[in-house]
Amino acid sequence: MFDKVLIANRGEIALRIHRACREMGIQTVAVHSTADETAMHVRLADESVCIGPPPSRDSYLNVPAILSAAMITGADAIHPGVGFLAENANFAALVEEHGFTFIGPEPEHMRRMGDKIEAKALAVELGLPVVPGSGGAIEDDGEALKIAREIGFPVLVKAAAGGGGKGMTVAETAEDLPETLAMCRREAKANFGHDAIYLEKLLTHPRHIEVQVLGDGRGEVVHFGERDCSLQRRHQKILEEAPSPALDPATRLSIGETVTEAMKKLDYRSAGTIEFLYEDGAFYFIEMNTRLQVEHPVTEMICGVDLVREQLRIATGAPLGYGQDEIASSGHAIECRINAENPESFRPAPGRVSEYHAPGGLGVRVDSALYSGYTVPPHYDSLVSKLIVHGTTRNECLMRLRRALEEYVIGGIETTIPLHQRLISEPRFLNGDYDIHWLEAWIEGADGPAETEDTG
Ligand code: ADP
Repeated sequence: MFDKVLIANRGEIALRIHRACREMGIQTVAVHSTADETAMHVRLADESVCIGPPPSRDSYLNVPAILSAAMITGADAIHPGVGFLAENANFAALVEEHGFTFIGPEPEHMRRMGDKIEAKALAVELGLPVVPGSGGAIEDDGEALKIAREIGFPVLVKAAAGGGGKGMTVAETAEDLPETLAMCRREAKANFGHDAIYLEKLLTHPRHIEVQVLGDGRGEVVHFGERDCSLQRRHQKILEEAPSPALDPATRLSIGETVTEAMKKLDYRSAGTIEFLYEDGAFYFIEMNTRLQVEHPVTEMICGVDLVREQLRIATGAPLGYGQDEIASSGHAIECRINAENPESFRPAPGRVSEYHAPGGLGVRVDSALYSGYTVPPHYDSLVSKLIVHGTTRNECLMRLRRALEEYVIGGIETTIPLHQRLISEPRFLNGDYDIHWLEAWIEGADGPAETEDTG
C-alpha cells in the first residue's frame, strides 16, 4: 500500500479522499490556493503545500506546482478527486512519467472517453446502445440536414469537446438547422478551442441513469447498480438517488451486465461511470466519466462499499478480489447537493458561515468541508455540502431526508437547502415520476403548485 498520497483537489471531495486514506493508514498531503489556507481539507491533512493564488488555473490546475508538491513531500501517488484535473489524460500521463502512481484509469482510456465523438464510436464498438445521430463530426450543412431528416427533428447539436452541460443547442426544424450549426460551431471554438460538432436525436422525456463500475485493469470488472440523476437544472445534477425508481429488477440486471461486458472488453481500471438516457424502456449511452463522481455516495450507501478505498487498492496493482455475485445492495439512498447559492435565483452566495450544525442519526451522512467561522471563497464551485440519507425503503429514506433537512443549520450564507425542502413536499418527486426536464420546469413555476393556481 502507499505510504503517502497527495490529494489534488479541495473542498468536500478532498476530505472524502483524506478520510479513506486515514482509515487505511496512509498519510495525506493537501494542496491549496492562497484562498484556501484555512480550509478543512488543509487542516485535516498530515501535510499541506500552497500551490498558487486563488484562480484555479494558477493553483488547482497548475500541473507543475502540483507535481513539485508531490516531489517535495515524497508522495507515492496522486488522487485527482472530481473536477479540476480528474479527467485530464495529459495530467495522468505526466503523473506517471514523474514516477508517481495516478489513482485512476489508464490515461489512454481517459483520452478516448474525453472526446465525445470518439467516446460514442468506442461505445458502439463495445456493444453499448447509443443515441441515434451523426456518428461522427459533421463536415457540412447538407450532410447534417440529411442525417437530421433521417433521425427526425428536433435534434441536438453538440460540441465534441463540450462538458459540464455546456455546448448543446436544439434545432427544432430543418429551417433552424443551418443557424444552429453555425452558432454551435462558433461557441464550441470560443469555449473549448475546437469547433467539431455532431448531431443527436433530442430525446423528449428521458431519465438520466448511470451505472457505476469498478475494474482492476487485469480483466476483472464489476458494477454496483445504477443512480438516477434526472433531477437537473441547466444540465447540472441537483439530487441523485439509487436505485432508480424507474427500473425493474430485470432491466437493472440487464443494463448492469451490458456495461460490465463492455468494460471488460476495454480492460478498464479504477472507478468509472457510464451515463445513459433512458426513455420508453431503452437505454442510450451519452458519455463515460473516467473518474469518481460527486454522487458516488448513494451507491456506497446501498452497496456498503468504499469506492475511494477500492480505487486506492486497485491503484497499487491489487486484483479486484471479488465477483459480481458478492455485490448486493440494500435499501434506498438519496443525495442532496447543497450549494452556496440563492435558492431561487441560483446566484452564487459565498461568504462567512456564522453557525453550523450538521444533521446526524441513523442513516444520515454529510460530506462537507464547512465549519462554523469558515468563509466560503468566491473562486470555486458553489457545492459546499452533500447530504446523503439511507433508508430500508424509498419511503423511509424520504422521511429521513425531510427530518435531516430540517435539522441542517448553515447560518450566514444562502444555500439551496430551502429548494430541497420544497422538493421533498412535491408529489411528482415523492412518486419518483420525473424526467430530466421536470425539475427545471418546476423551479420556473411551469409545474409548481402555487403558480398553477395563480394563473388558473
Ligand atoms: P456533459 O458532458 O456536458 O455533461 P452530456 O452528454 O453528459 O454532457 O449531457 C448532459 C445532459 O444533457 C444529460 O444529462 C441530459 O440532461 C442532456 N442531454 C444530453 N444528450 C441529450 C439528448 N440526446 N437528448 C436529450 N437530452 C440530452
